[in-house]
Amino acid sequence: MLLKMVQKIPEPKFCILCGAALHEGTPPNDHRPRHICSACGFIHYRQPKIAAGVVVEHDGGVVLIRRSVEPRRGFWSFPCGFMEIDETLEEAAVRETREECGLRVELQGHLATYSYVQSWHGGSIVVAVYRGRSAGGMLQAGDDAMEARVVRPDEIPWPDLAFKSTHAALTDWLQARAH
Ligand SMILES: [Zn+2]
Repeated sequence: MLLKMVQKIPEPKFCILCGAALHEGTPPNDHRPRHICSACGFIHYRQPKIAAGVVVEHDGGVVLIRRSVEPRRGFWSFPCGFMEIDETLEEAAVRETREECGLRVELQGHLATYSYVQSWHGGSIVVAVYRGRSAGGMLQAGDDAMEARVVRPDEIPWPDLAFKSTHAALTDWLQARAH
């Protein structure tokens, strides 16, 4: 399925608790309008989406996967995906790595965190990236990937990277690695 580009950040219309219509209003002691349920009064605060990923060092290079889903199908990224509601950032990072490239990863610290405002994605997105080392498993393309491979630092396909955060994290990783 192709993701349609939307100009405006989508807004909720109905209450997630009771299904009634929402209206815009500024709650007491707040400073900006929120979506408030006209029936039960529940205030729908909207928060950024959080993703976690890992730059996995393996066989003298870094593990990249080629995305098999939109957005940015066919482009390259390190394993990365959205947190589930009941896990920590680290758990999400380890899980996404296993799901997307088959490797069991041992995290070796935080590399950097990036954030962007992307209207097509419904607002802000926060991407926390860890460094990691392969600790087992077998490298193979998994969920959301059509290919998984190890590339040497001088083989990183810069023009074909999937996201701004992919570019930023690999740049920061190369720098951190040099020190
Ligand atoms: Zn309601």
